[in-house]
Amino acid sequence: KREEPARPGLLGRLVGRGGAKPVVRRTLDDEMLESLEELLIASDMGVETAMRVAANIAEGRMGRRFSTEELKELLAAEIARIMEPVARPLPLYDRKPQVVLVVGVNGSGKTTTIGKLAAQLRAAGKKVIIAAGDTFRAAAVEQLQVWGERAGVPVMTAPQGADPASLAFDAMTRAEEEGADILLIDTAGRLQNRADLMEELAKIVRVIRKKDPTAPHNTILVLDATTGQNALSQLEIFRKMADVTGLIMTKLDGTAKGGVLVALADRFGLPIHAIGVGEQIDDLAPFDPEEFARALVG
Ligand code: GDP
Repeated sequence: KREEPARPGLLGRLVGRGGAKPVVRRTLDDEMLESLEELLIASDMGVETAMRVAANIAEGRMGRRFSTEELKELLAAEIARIMEPVARPLPLYDRKPQVVLVVGVNGSGKTTTIGKLAAQLRAAGKKVIIAAGDTFRAAAVEQLQVWGERAGVPVMTAPQGADPASLAFDAMTRAEEEGADILLIDTAGRLQNRADLMEELAKIVRVIRKKDPTAPHNTILVLDATTGQNALSQLEIFRKMADVTGLIMTKLDGTAKGGVLVALADRFGLPIHAIGVGEQIDDLAPFDPEEFARALVG
């Protein structure tokens, strides 16, 4: 019987494949450390984080011999250690309504994520309202309405091109009147005109603060795992426009393993509230550092 060669994971290429063959051990030397750094960089971890992770693996272990499996375990443990502190679900407050602003570039999965989140919150017994704040994209508003129906959550809309801030204000009023627990506000994601977008987001915040000076209570940035290192620059950009308090990374069900999340956690330490693992309504999962680390290491 012929053995199928195991698909090489992150480390398979480094020390050889495991499987049925006898366990191969190689000495952890400078050359191997350099290869490890390169592999980590190639996984979208970014140079700085990759170097730090490799250095932590190397510490006290240079010159010793390791099999692929042993190295994988070390690496997964190191990555899980970095990710542990940021794995935090969306905090729920007693404040009514808790205002959650959702930002991110178009196509990142914002609409889908709001739909999934609304469904989860509703299932947890929360009364939720969605405001379709991307008033320029008619298709986005329609999509959000579809998601609202699926989630059993009302979606407030405004005519195309209407001021998103005034919609946000009306949504605050309705949420207060109806005693809603959570108001999810979608926002535009046109990075082509950053000055406009920044002004738009700032105005939404100003207006909802007229109703509640402590709002928004959360500003979630939605990032697409398949964009790799772009996620870092998107966070930089949105942090300048809004007070981002947490992240949700979508499309982790595909080939993208989300190595950039390690860089994000290492550099910014923002909570990762959840991850998107598909296009269906229940495809929003809590972020599990160990599972994530194991999948990344392969
Ligand atoms: P928006 O423009 O940011 O509002 O993005 P959408 O919510 O419309 O999502 C863009 C595309 O990505 C759609 O085809 C979604 O079905 C898809 N999508 C969103 N989240 C996920 C996810 O977690 N996994 C997968 N595979 N697809 C997703």
